Amino acid sequence: MQKTLKAIARAVGGTLLGGVSDKLMLASGVSTDTRSLCPNQLYVPIVGDRFDGHDFLPNAVEKGAVGALWQKDHPLPSPLPPVPLIRVENTLTALQQLAASWRQEIGVKVVAVTGSNGKTTTKELLGSVLSVKFRVHQTQGNYNNHIGLPLTLLSMPENTEVVVLEMGMNHAGEIALLSTIAQPDIAVITNIGEAHIEHLGSRQGIADAKLEIREGLAKQGILVVDGDEPLLRERLSQEKRRWIGVGWQDKNDDILQSFSTEGLEGISFTTSLSNRRFTLPMMGKHNASNALLAITVGRSMGMTEEEIQQGLTQVRMTGMRLERRTASNGMLIINDAYNASPTSMRATIDLLSSLEGFSEKWVLLGDMLEMGHDEEAYHRDIGRFAIEKGISRVYAMGERGRWIVEGAKEVATQEKVVHLQNAEEAARIFLQEGNQKVALLVKASRGARLETVVEHVLKGA
Ligand code: ATP
Ligand code: MG
Repeated sequence: MQKTLKAIARAVGGTLLGGVSDKLMLASGVSTDTRSLCPNQLYVPIVGDRFDGHDFLPNAVEKGAVGALWQKDHPLPSPLPPVPLIRVENTLTALQQLAASWRQEIGVKVVAVTGSNGKTTTKELLGSVLSVKFRVHQTQGNYNNHIGLPLTLLSMPENTEVVVLEMGMNHAGEIALLSTIAQPDIAVITNIGEAHIEHLGSRQGIADAKLEIREGLAKQGILVVDGDEPLLRERLSQEKRRWIGVGWQDKNDDILQSFSTEGLEGISFTTSLSNRRFTLPMMGKHNASNALLAITVGRSMGMTEEEIQQGLTQVRMTGMRLERRTASNGMLIINDAYNASPTSMRATIDLLSSLEGFSEKWVLLGDMLEMGHDEEAYHRDIGRFAIEKGISRVYAMGERGRWIVEGAKEVATQEKVVHLQNAEEAARIFLQEGNQKVALLVKASRGARLETVVEHVLKGA
């Protein structure tokens, strides 16, 4: 963002305290964190649970902030700082208003992605595909909430043509707010799973929360959604805007895909659009679904299939999502410890079970968090599912992992099913008993920190 302090004050309905010359001072970007603030940025102090950003104004000034927002319920600092302050009702709301105004001002096309699983992956795929033709700015990492999303918009350069935003949520109403700020032209819903069911009551509640992405969607906007999800189809039957359902199964899907091959290097698949075979340097059928969303958006933005394929080929994913590592004994480790829900657990176990070239498939699974009162059933289901998919050893860790073990034992015949105490024990077993014929999947919710097991195995202890 590049704006004068006067224009910023106007955009956020604030009062600029300072002299006439201050009005014309130019802010280049915004920061909410004095540790990473760059000279000439506007400092936006946020009031958090543990810290109050207002306390760090002196640090912001020292780092070269051009000015700062200041929430009205905070007494003005005395003496006043050497940089102008803009007084606002609420600094967080002001940050969001400023982001919305910058988005309007530079008139980019906004593609927003929400859904229970696969948001970051789909965002990366979209970023990679759309960059073949457009100047793209996108959410960094997982900056997908009420602070991260405004900061993403505010960090986009003036010549940006397309911005790809990830929208995350825990509660109803959050996606509506993000959508109102971002005003998407294209809204993508990757899928409806069970994540955050604790707060949202039911899968229907989850679907409704994702559909809030329509709140800010342009009248001429397009929705691209998982067409195999009946809950979305049902709700969208009344939708006036154009929507496209994509997927594998539903004969009503506008675009269907069919799977071709899968190996450790990636996957290939065809779609009902043409007879072209797309290839993707990522594992997992679920990633073909994510790619199909990106293909559909690319096409609706006038890209050719060649251009889209070029983008898919170039995609780079960040760590702990189906990351492949090899232990010293030759065992393949598929580290997907980044996060987990029943849907993503199933998708990843499916992938493991379809891998060729390994005589044994093992899983180390951990707790899935925020699953609500049915959490026991979800965990037991996963245990059973793993055995049914031909996994020969089911290991689990964590308190809820016991249910996974119990579920697996219900159907296991000669398979090994074991609950492990800690990362050291797990690593010891994998190092002693693994070999190059074994592929091991490691997966749990972020909070379970199962990557420590992978670290121990790779260190060899
Ligand atoms: P978060 O809510 O943590 O931001 P996210 O929605 O951004 O998650 P990703 O980080 O892209 O999701 O992927 C997380 C995990 O979800 C992946 O490792 C994979 O196991 C699973 N996953 C990804 N895409 C899908 C999909 N389309 N369907 C089911 N599971 C998926
Ligand atoms: Mg994410």
